[in-house]
Amino acid sequence: MDYISTRGSAPALDFAGATLAGLANDGGLYLPREWPRFSSAEIAAMAGLSYAELAARIMQPFVGDSLTSERLLELTTAAYGRFAHKAVTPLKQLDEQQWLLELFHGPTLAFKDVALQLLGLLFEEFLGRPNEGGGDQNLIIVGATSGDTGSAAIDAVAGRAKVDIFMLHPKGRVSDVQRRQMTTVLAPNVHNIAIEGATFDDAQAMVKRMFNDTAMTGKFNIGAVNSINWARLMAQVVYYFAAGLQLGAPHRPVAFSVPTGNFGDVFAGYVAAQMGLPIAQLIVATNVNDILHRALTTGDYSQGTVTPTAAPSMDIQVSSNFERLLFDLGGRDGKALASQMAGFEASKSMQLTNAQREGAAALFSSARADADNMAQAIRWAWVNCGELIDPHTACGLHAARVSGLSRDVPIVTLATAHPAKFRDAVERATGQRPHLPSRVGDLFDREERCVDLPGDYAAIADYVSSHATPKG
Ligand SMILES: *Cc1c(COP(=O)(O)O)cnc(C)c1O
Repeated sequence: MDYISTRGSAPALDFAGATLAGLANDGGLYLPREWPRFSSAEIAAMAGLSYAELAARIMQPFVGDSLTSERLLELTTAAYGRFAHKAVTPLKQLDEQQWLLELFHGPTLAFKDVALQLLGLLFEEFLGRPNEGGGDQNLIIVGATSGDTGSAAIDAVAGRAKVDIFMLHPKGRVSDVQRRQMTTVLAPNVHNIAIEGATFDDAQAMVKRMFNDTAMTGKFNIGAVNSINWARLMAQVVYYFAAGLQLGAPHRPVAFSVPTGNFGDVFAGYVAAQMGLPIAQLIVATNVNDILHRALTTGDYSQGTVTPTAAPSMDIQVSSNFERLLFDLGGRDGKALASQMAGFEASKSMQLTNAQREGAAALFSSARADADNMAQAIRWAWVNCGELIDPHTACGLHAARVSGLSRDVPIVTLATAHPAKFRDAVERATGQRPHLPSRVGDLFDREERCVDLPGDYAAIADYVSSHATPKG
C-alpha cells in the first residue's frame, strides 16, 4: 500500500514513510491510495478475535510490506497490553438503543491512547531501521494539544531513544488533570510548552507552519502525533469493527455518535465504512464550536472564534482531517483540493462542492450540544443508567439521543474520555465526584516541568531548535 497527499504534489510514501512524515511537504495529509475492502464473510470471520488480533487483521492491508504480520501482532499485543480492561474498548448498554463504547481504559484516560500507544511503538520500530526516514534516525515530534493528545503522546514516547517530543498547549485552557498528565513526565526527551494567550487552533497553526518551514525541516526530521498522522486514524478504525462485530456486523448496521474536534475519530469511522463495515450513520457531535455541524448542514465551512467549553478537546474551529474527507468525496483530485484549501487558508471560509455535500450527507449527520445539553446528557446517564460520563462523551450522547434514527438501529456513542479527567464538570452536573483510577496514581503530588512562551512562531521555533537533536 502506498500513501498519497490530499494536495496532489508530495511524493508517494510507503506506510513506514507516511508514519514518520507527518504532514506532506505540499501541506496536505497522507491517505492510502485506495481503501482496502473486506467481504462480508471476512468480517464474519473476525468475530471472537482478541482486540490485539482484530487490530492486526484490520491494519495489515494498510501496513503492507512495512511490517510482517507476525511483527504487527507483536506490536498490537504490546500496545493494548497496557490497557486496564481486558476487552480494551468495552461496550456498555445504556438502554434499548443507546450504547457506550469506552475508549478511555488506556494509561492517560482518553481515547487518544488507543492510537498513540501503538504509534510510539511504530516510531521506535521504524527509527531502528537503517535507511528509512532519512539517514541518521532521530525524530523530533512537534505537536499541538487541546489536552488529551499531549498526555497520550508523551506517555507513549517518554524515555524512548531517538525521539524528542515538543508539546504545545494553550496556557490555562486545559484541565488540571490534563496539564499534570503532561507536565509531571520528567523524562529528558519530553518538552512541554504552554503558549500564552493562545487557543488550540493557534498552537496547531504554529505546528503546521513548522512542518513547512525549510529552516526547520532541513535540520530536523519532524514527525507528527496529531491526527494528521495517518497511523493514528488507522488504529482508530479497529474499535468501530470491534463494536460493530459485537452488535451483529456484518449482518446488522450500526450507527456511531462521535464527539468531534479535529475530525480524526469520526474519519476513522468513515474509513471503516469504506472497508465494508455496515454503518447506518456517523453522527458528528460538536459542542458550541460547531464549524463541522454548520459545514455538514449548510455546506458553509467558515471559521468562527473559539469559545472555551467544558469539553476542551473539542474547542476547535479548524478540523484538519475534514480535508481528508473532502479529498475522498471530491473524486480525489489533489489539484482541485489544494486550491479549495488555499482559498480557505486565505479567507478562513469555503463552500463545499455539491459532490462533497451529497457524499457527506449519504453517511454523516451532525448535532451541536450547548452547555445545557451537555449537563443534561451527563445527568441522564447518571440517573437512568448509573454511568458517569465526561463532557465530551456527553456531546456524543446528546447527539445520539436527538438523532431520530429508527429504534432498531443501535447507536454507539464513543466515550472518548474518563469522567475523572473532567471531574469538576461531572460533579456540577451530577453531584458525584469521579475518582481518578489508581493507574494515574499520585498525579497531584508530582513535580511539574513546563516552559511558558509567547504566542509567537519565532520564539517557539527558537526554543525547539535549541533543545532538539538534529538529523545528524
Ligand atoms: C481529541 C478528543 C476528541 C476529538 O477527537 P477528534 O479526533 O479530534 O475529532 C473528543 N473527545 C476527547 C476526550 C478527545 O480527547
